[in-house]
Amino acid sequence: MNIGVLALQGAFIEHVHALNRLGVTASEVRLPHQLENLDGLIIPGGESTTIGKLAVEWGLMEPLRDFGKSNAIWGTCAGAIFLSKDARRDQPLLGLMDITVQRNAFGRQAESFETELDVAALSKNGNGHVKPFHAIFIRAPLIEEVGPGVEVIARVAKGGDAKNAPVIVAARQGRLLATSFHPELTRDDRFHQLFVDMAGR
Ligand code: GLN
Repeated sequence: MNIGVLALQGAFIEHVHALNRLGVTASEVRLPHQLENLDGLIIPGGESTTIGKLAVEWGLMEPLRDFGKSNAIWGTCAGAIFLSKDARRDQPLLGLMDITVQRNAFGRQAESFETELDVAALSKNGNGHVKPFHAIFIRAPLIEEVGPGVEVIARVAKGGDAKNAPVIVAARQGRLLATSFHPELTRDDRFHQLFVDMAGR
């Protein structure tokens, strides 16, 4: 198993380390030919406008779209924005996943926060009881609309405040996965394991 990590900008090295902890080979991807022979790709957090601009410059937009048609891709934070089909602003997006996002959705006072999430998809059979996942949000997007083929896998009360209505922060569509938060910044590798399983199918 060899998982690529898009290494144009942002928190890519942390994903490489998490994959290595699981015994999975991880390859940094900067050029189209580096997508060959990969079993999946992670698009990290960072700044989605910068990632998009660099992807255009390096001729990666069409190769990434082609890759995503038949392979697993996981976008974290800015990566989830880049996977989406609309981010309410004009910026290069892959448009692979049938979701729309709102960038920097948690407001100034809660630009960054950490909270526990219940994610049934992390249990072995997909619906058992699981230990909460400690999620780190950094100027995070929320997922606004999901298409019919998209499964919502985590919600959170906005800003981690239970008074607020829950919003979508993780979703899956076939072999595409989007998370608003940063599992690679924790030592809990269950999301990476989930993605490795998706890529291996
Ligand atoms: N706010 C960033 C964006 O809009 C995402 C932040 C992140 O990836 N941590 O692209």
